[in-house]
Amino acid sequence: MALINENYLKLPGSYLFAEIGRRVAAFKSENPSANIIRLGIGDVTRPLPAAVIGALHSAVDEMAREETFRGYGPEQGYAFLSRKIIDFDYAPRGIQLDEDEVFISDGSKSDVGNIQEIFGVDNVVAITDPVYPVYLDSNIMAGRTGSLGEDGRFGRVMYLPCTAENQFIPDLPRQKVDMIYLCCPNNPTGTTLSKAELKKWVDYARANEAIILFDGAYEAYIREDNIPHSIYEIEGAKEVAIEFRSFSKNAGFTGTRCAYTVVPKTVMGKTAGGESYPLNKLWNRRQTTKFNGVPYIIQRGAEAVYTPEGQQQIKALVDYYMTNAKIIVDGLKSAGLEVYGGVNAPYIWLKTPNNMDSWAFFDKLLHEVHIVGTPGTGFGPSGKGYFRLTAFGNRENTQEAIQRIKTKLSI
Ligand code: PLP
Repeated sequence: MALINENYLKLPGSYLFAEIGRRVAAFKSENPSANIIRLGIGDVTRPLPAAVIGALHSAVDEMAREETFRGYGPEQGYAFLSRKIIDFDYAPRGIQLDEDEVFISDGSKSDVGNIQEIFGVDNVVAITDPVYPVYLDSNIMAGRTGSLGEDGRFGRVMYLPCTAENQFIPDLPRQKVDMIYLCCPNNPTGTTLSKAELKKWVDYARANEAIILFDGAYEAYIREDNIPHSIYEIEGAKEVAIEFRSFSKNAGFTGTRCAYTVVPKTVMGKTAGGESYPLNKLWNRRQTTKFNGVPYIIQRGAEAVYTPEGQQQIKALVDYYMTNAKIIVDGLKSAGLEVYGGVNAPYIWLKTPNNMDSWAFFDKLLHEVHIVGTPGTGFGPSGKGYFRLTAFGNRENTQEAIQRIKTKLSI
C-alpha cells in the first residue's frame, strides 16, 4: 500500500467554517423565522464591473473564430496583461519591473500556497498571528513546521503575535528566520504597516538573508497616505521580497480567478553549498511544469480593469465596500466596542467585550441579534478574544446588522 504524506495529518481540521455552519444550522432549526445576516464572509458580493463583462464577451467571441482562436497560452500569462500590470500598478509608484518578473495566475491562494515549494524544507518560517491560514497550512503540508504543541502552536514556526498591545505591528523575530509571510493590509485584523514599519522588515530580511512573502491581496483598500501599496516602494525590497496581488477583491474576481505574483530577478536564495540562485528561475520552472496558464478569456477580462472605465468601476466597487466598513466601524464604536481595522481594509477586527471567549461572542451575536461573524481563534492563537466582521455584504444588510447591534445587543 502506498504511504501517505503524513504531514497532512498534522493539519488542524477545517474546523472553523464547519463549526460556524453547524452552529448556524442548529440555531436556524430552532428559530426558523430568524433573519440571519452574514457578516463573516470573506467573499465579495457585487457583480463584475461592466468593462470586465464586455471584455469577457468579446474574448469568448474570439474563441469562436478560427483566426482568433487561442489554445495553450504562455504559462506565465499573456504580455498584454503583464504589461498593463507593470504600467498601472507599479510604474506610477516608481517601481520598474520586466514582463518576465510578473507571473499571472489563477489566484493568490494558489500562489501563496505553492510558493513554499521552491524553498528548502529546513527553512524556518515566520508568520504573523493571527493571519490568513494558507501560509501555515501549506508549510505544514510540506513538513516545514514540526508538530503542534499543547499551546496550539507548531514547534518549528516562529509566530509573530499581532494584538492591540503592539498595535498589530509584529516585532522582528528574536531568532533568525528564513521565510517571512506578511499580509498587508491584513486579513483578519484589517490593520497594515506604514512605510517605516515595513522598512524594518526589509532591512531585517537583507541583514539575515531571509525572504519576505508579501501578500497584497487587499492593496486596493488602502486609503491612508503613509501606507505602502507595494513592498517594492521600500528600498532594497527587490533583493528580498516576492509580492502577491489579486483581482479577487478589487475587481470581484473571486469566482472568475485571476491574480499575479511578482518575483524580481534580483531576489536570491542559496544552495546548501552557499551558491546564490534566482528565485525567479525556480518559480518559472515550477509554474511551467505544474500550471498551464489562466484562460485567455479571463486574462482579457482582467486587462479591462485597466481601461479608463474599468478603473472608474473598480474604484466604485471598492468605495462601496469601504462605505460598509465605515458603517460597521462607526456603529460598533458607538455601541461601546473596541474596534480595529476597516480604514485601509475591508475587515473589521473587534475585541470581544469583557474578555469573552471568541466562540462565546459568536453565540451571543447569533442568538441575540442573528448576526454571523468569524471567531478570531480561527486565524491563529493570538486571535483569542477577538472577532472578525467583513464589509463585503450588501449595504442594506450591513446597515440592518449594525442597527441591531446598537439597539439589541447586550454588552
Ligand atoms: N490572500 C489573502 C490574505 C486572502 O484573504 C485571500 C482570500 O480571501 C487570498 C489571498 C486569496 O485570494 P485569491 O482569490 O486571489 O485566491
